[in-house]
Formats: sequence, structure tokens, C-alpha cells
Amino acid sequence: MPEDASPKSEKIRCDACPVMCYIADGKSGACDRYANHGGELVRLDPLTVIERGVPAVAFLDRGENAQDWDGDVIQGHRQFVTAVGAGTTYPDYKPAPFIVSQEVDGVDMVTVVTEGIFSYCGVKVKIDTDRHIGHERAIVRVDGEAIGHVMTSEYGSKMLSLGGVEHLTGGSKKEGRVTCDALLRLCNREAVTMQIDEGVELIVQAGQAPVINGEPEKLMRVGCGSATIGMFAKQWYGHVDEVVVVDDHITGVLSEHEAGRGLDMRASGIKVKGRRSTPGRYFQVAEPGTGWGGTNVQDPLTILKPADPKLAWPGLRLLMISTTGEQWAYFVLDDDLQPQPAEISPPLLAVAERIAENCEPSLCSVLFMGGAGGSLRAGVTENPVRLTRSVKDALTYVSCGGAEAYVWPGGGITVMADVMEMPTNSFGYVPTPALVAPIEFTLRASDYSALGGHSDHIQPLDTVLSPTIRKLLPNDSQPDPHARQNYRWPSRPRGRG
Ligand code: SF4
Repeated sequence: MPEDASPKSEKIRCDACPVMCYIADGKSGACDRYANHGGELVRLDPLTVIERGVPAVAFLDRGENAQDWDGDVIQGHRQFVTAVGAGTTYPDYKPAPFIVSQEVDGVDMVTVVTEGIFSYCGVKVKIDTDRHIGHERAIVRVDGEAIGHVMTSEYGSKMLSLGGVEHLTGGSKKEGRVTCDALLRLCNREAVTMQIDEGVELIVQAGQAPVINGEPEKLMRVGCGSATIGMFAKQWYGHVDEVVVVDDHITGVLSEHEAGRGLDMRASGIKVKGRRSTPGRYFQVAEPGTGWGGTNVQDPLTILKPADPKLAWPGLRLLMISTTGEQWAYFVLDDDLQPQPAEISPPLLAVAERIAENCEPSLCSVLFMGGAGGSLRAGVTENPVRLTRSVKDALTYVSCGGAEAYVWPGGGITVMADVMEMPTNSFGYVPTPALVAPIEFTLRASDYSALGGHSDHIQPLDTVLSPTIRKLLPNDSQPDPHARQNYRWPSRPRGRG
């Protein structure tokens, strides 16, 4: 009908993801990444380029040191085009949005960039805390929806595994939407409040201290109770007769511990509850919790058994302390061998402070984890498995927003990248639901053509650099994706391709 032909023709169809939005002029699509500007489909975020180069020219540098300055403040002689703002190509038979060439140290290099749509991705979260956040395998929820679970406890940290295909697409529509939103916010370094079944309420934000039941965590433990004894035994020696380091994993008892024996300490007769592992090392002294050393202990004396009257003596000096040094209590045994609170001496207090000083600040670390599946690889080459092989052979360097990506061994291209190393707002989403994350493949032009790459879509770097691009300085901790040491190929080009 002629009436409906006109309004429909004003809308254009976005084909950057399976949602295939029809977008009216001046409007954006469901993900807010693409818009219709006067009939043209545009990617709203600017393409992000990292500029590397020699340090900036010193101001008013004269005489022998004078350098020509062409007005380029950061002297960015080498640019790296990231996938942030690049867009996606969907369906997958199309080449990636940008396949950019440039010469690097005499070698023709190609970088293929795309904003991958990851329906199967997740994040791994490391939370530096001693406190018990929930049992291993407990469900992690946001707004009541399961988005992942608690994994293993590692040294001084609790780990979460969030997202993944089971939650993004395997549950209800709401579960998928909430999971995708939580992943997006975590990856873009925003705070997300989570509840752990039979555990705590947790606020996680990449690069910030975790907040557990409303309290920001401060310190990451210096080590387990046994390690703490090993580290500080000499500094306690002579100032105290016994030290008990309260810890959910291994509670240490100084005089009984190898370190105390090495110092010829007299057996104190102080006995702790729990399962003895080796001399001076006890497991399960209490239940896990948010008290001393990740236990549920608020009063440390509750983990002590009555002192052995054959060994203990009135006047025995006893220090009890946690693995972060934040909690400590000092006692002296009375005539009935009962510990009585007493004033701590300055040298012992100094060691408590030193334990705290040796603890690192608690942080939440968020690592994006995703697999570059067959379809994404098809944007790079007509023969996707060759890209996988090329990555495994270290001929192709994988980065996420310019940040180094750890490539897992085994099949596929499964990568992990620290979101703190990536440009801000690197991530987007599409309502399928899936996370959109930048991924770049950098390799020699000759290797690219050898693996069946879309060589006829290569464009020189200059054609990509428009006034609207977002320029960033490199992150000092990140290797240059173009740097020769990232590659296993011989130092002299083989002249292939
Ligand atoms: S949701 Fe998908 S189809 Fe819609 S605008 Fe975003 S990328 Fe395009």
C-alpha cells in the first residue's frame, strides 16, 4: 500500500547482530550502539586508536637537544587500531569491520578488528579477602537471578565464575538479561551488588576494594597462619612466649611450629582446637565467617583448649593475631593458667603493624573471558581453523582493546583479559542477550594471506584515521601488539605471500 511505503522506507535495518533492528532516522537501535543518521547506519562510539611513539618533546628544548616538532603532542609514530568502536559484521560471512595494514619496523603487518558478539562469555572475579563470602559452588545472584557461582578459594582471595552460556541463554529470559547486564557493568568497571546464597552481600567493582555486608575490605592476608609464623617468628622471639595466628585455613602456633623450634622456644602448653596437620599447624579451628582470619571467631579465646598444666606456667605471655594483623589480643596467664587481657608491649605492637604493612590492599579483579568462535574467525579468514592454528603457533597476536589477552591452551581461541588494562567503556551488549567485546588479531601481511585472510579488504592505516577517532596513550603495563617479541616468526621476513 502506498500509505505504508513511506514511513517504512525511513527506517533502515541494522545488520550488526541477529536482532536486526529497524531504526528510524535520528534514533538508535536496541543496544544503543548503532543509529540512523539521515539514512546512514552509524556506529555511535568512536573507533579507538592507541598511539605509541617516542616521549613528548621537552618544552622549550633548545641547542643540541632541539627536536623538530610537527605539532603532534604525543609524537605518536605508531598507531594501533583497537576494536573498540569498530562495530561488528553480522551475518558472519562478511569480513571484519576493519582490516588495517601498516609497516612496522620494515614488516608489513595487518590488524583485523571486530567487536565480537559473545553469547558464551563470562567473567572471572578475584576478590581479595579472608572473609567467608559463601561456600564453594554457592549461587551468586543479582536481583534474585542466578548469574554464576563461587569457585575455589585461592591464596588470600575468593573467586567467582560469572556468566557463561548457562546463565546467558540457558535459563529464563530475565536470567539472561540480568546476567548480561551484570557482566557488562563489571567489564565496564562499574559496581555490581550481588547476593551469595547462604553467604554475604557483595559489591564488586574492578580495581576497587570489595564491599562485604556493607563494609569495605581493606587488606589482603599476608599468608596463612603458618606462613605468618614463618615470616615473623624472629621478630616475636624474646617478646612473647606464645603466638597463635588465627586463620580459617591453617592456624599457626609458634612454639610448636618449625619456626619456633628453630628458635629453641620452650613448649608453652597452649592448645588450640581443630585438626592438627603438622606440628604447629591446625585446620578447622572454627567455622568460616567474617571474623578473625576468615573464621566466625569474634573472641579468639574460643579456639583455645585449657592450657596443659604440665607445660604452661603463670605469667606466660600470649599473643593472638589474625593474618592481616588487623585483629590482635594480648594475654598473660594467671595462677589458674587462664589467659587474662594485658597491655601489649611496643615491640609486639610494632610486629602487628608490620603484618598489616605487608598486606596488600584488597581489590576486585575482573577478567573477561570469551572464545573467538567460528563465526568471528570467519570475519578474519575464509578458513577459520587456520586462524586458530596461527594463534597457537604465535604467528598471530590476540589482544582485547589493545590489552594483552591470555590465550588458553587446547582447542579454539579462548582468551582472558583484565578489564582494567582495556580502554574505558570497551564493552557493549546486544539484547540477544550477549556481551560485545573488542578483539584484535595482529599478524604479518604475508601470514594473513597464507591463512586465507580477506586480503582484498585490507585498507591502509591512514584511511581509517578520521578526525572522529578516539586517541589513547598506551597502557605502560601492556606490550605493544606490534612488538617483534610477541611473535615466533624469524627476525628476517621470509618474503612469503
Ligand atoms: S541490537 Fe543489534 S541490530 Fe539492533 S542496533 Fe544493536 S547491533 Fe544493530
